[in-house]
Amino acid sequence: MMDSAMKRIVFLTFLLVIFIPSSLLMAQSGQQKRWVIIDAAHGGTDGGVIVTDKIREKEVTLSLSQLLQKELARTPGIQVQMTRASEKTMSIAERLKIVRAAPAEALFISLHVNAGFGKNASGYEIFFPGFKAAPEDKGDSQVILKDMVKNKNLNDSVRFAQAIQRNMENVFPRKGRGLREAPIPILNDLTLTAVVLEIGFATNTDDRKKIMSEKTQQAIAQALSKSINDFF
Ligand SMILES: [Zn+2]
Repeated sequence: MMDSAMKRIVFLTFLLVIFIPSSLLMAQSGQQKRWVIIDAAHGGTDGGVIVTDKIREKEVTLSLSQLLQKELARTPGIQVQMTRASEKTMSIAERLKIVRAAPAEALFISLHVNAGFGKNASGYEIFFPGFKAAPEDKGDSQVILKDMVKNKNLNDSVRFAQAIQRNMENVFPRKGRGLREAPIPILNDLTLTAVVLEIGFATNTDDRKKIMSEKTQQAIAQALSKSINDFF
């Protein structure tokens, strides 16, 4: 994590870069494969937030993404693509390359650890891309078609976020901080079903213990796997 303004900028930049080109793929693709892109945020020189003296966010997100990958491997018909499967630095451009190689119908989930807002801030947060109604005054059929694709994917992102919220409630009862829309116009160009999950706060003692616990990580991976299956 970063402070909230910085976090928002990085998140939105990433989504912008991803979603504009993926809309072009979407229009051409008729595939019905169930693809899931798991993004273990940060990595290498980008450690993310400090969890303990020895552990950074990048290690937690990698561990969790690998657990989720294992969970999903049990479900036939789901193809998993990791943005990174090892401890290495990965730029947004490199992650984007991987996302663009996947079908446009892919689900995208980015995993993070939160920090800040004082020691009392705790719980998980789910972000989905902002929703804005399609412009009504454009008569061009291509534009209308594109808007329909966009709106479908925005709706799907909300539906995916809701599925995650339901299943995370079993892991962290009453710890959800709600679904959060990223309120930036840039996201109107989104055409991929996408969610960003902040699993908890490294700056909160209880959250930190859970984040570090293998058992909790496993439970989160199971909750996410179930959410993905629920979504499909
Ligand atoms: Zn992060």
